[in-house]
Amino acid sequence: MKDLLQQIEAYRQEMNSYKAPTAEALEAFRIKYLGTKGIVKAVMGQIKNVPNDHKKEFGQILNAFKIFAEERYEALKGMSAPEEQQAVSALDWSLPGDPIPVGTRHPLSIVRNQIVSIFKRLGFAVAEGPEMEDDWHNFTALNLPENHPARDMQDTFYINKNPDYLLRTHTSSVQARVMEKQKPPIRIVCPGRVYRNETISARAHCFFHQVEGLYVDDNVSFADLKQTLYFFVQEMFGKEVKIRFRPSYFPFTEPSAEMDISCSVCGGKGCSLCKHTGWVEILGCGMVHPRMLENFHLDPNKYTGFAFGMGIERICQLKYRINDLRLYSQNDIRFLRQFTEAL
Ligand SMILES: [Zn+2]
Repeated sequence: MKDLLQQIEAYRQEMNSYKAPTAEALEAFRIKYLGTKGIVKAVMGQIKNVPNDHKKEFGQILNAFKIFAEERYEALKGMSAPEEQQAVSALDWSLPGDPIPVGTRHPLSIVRNQIVSIFKRLGFAVAEGPEMEDDWHNFTALNLPENHPARDMQDTFYINKNPDYLLRTHTSSVQARVMEKQKPPIRIVCPGRVYRNETISARAHCFFHQVEGLYVDDNVSFADLKQTLYFFVQEMFGKEVKIRFRPSYFPFTEPSAEMDISCSVCGGKGCSLCKHTGWVEILGCGMVHPRMLENFHLDPNKYTGFAFGMGIERICQLKYRINDLRLYSQNDIRFLRQFTEAL
């Protein structure tokens, strides 16, 4: 019995000698003393060797030893906490933070935002639609029926045949979707990415970006179209810019025109950018074809409208002299860093 008492006393001293421990040492303490094969359990087991008349007395001693071990464990656990708190408060909050590098907008985003904001000032709302389209919204509704030769100029990526799903070849599909749902007055611009099946080169890419506009209401005239686009180019390229219209063909407009602006590099004298003509082409436009209005159950005798469409890459090229379309999607940070002007 004496041995057991001495041993318990030795364990008590041993436990007392533990200093504020690390998490590992604390766990080691718990396993050594309080674990299922630990010392406390072993000592408690000794009760069976104690003569019956001493059992009560020893039971109290052993119980006290168990409580001591548990309290000691809790005390050590408490001691480790202030140490951690100390480590946290040792941080110097007044030190400057790690710098967060500020990125720049992509040139196409800058130009798209500029175009959209100019038309917004004229009362145009922004409309968007899916990049994956069905045949009706991309072609047929826009007066481009099956076997129409103009479809050849807009070969794209077909996702499904019968019913046909494809990657849209122009944002005109958004115009179709708006005319389907909304009654005039309709005054929208549709910015977005479009796709063509083209071999990638400096002058062509399998995807590019457009902004198209549509205005349908009573008494919309070609004069409205001309003045709207004149306002746009003056805001975009400066007050001194001149415009001219050349007759053209688009299936969804009649009459149709291409619009040129005077070359901003040579001022009209002739240079390599304008191919020595003094003019550069920037967009296509025209009065909405009556058949297209009929496709959307609008009376062409009551309503008229104009539409226009431009490539954002083209406007970007004229504004920033970017001659290679591939640069836009190569993700070269040296190229992208040059466009810090706008956010
Ligand atoms: Zn020029």
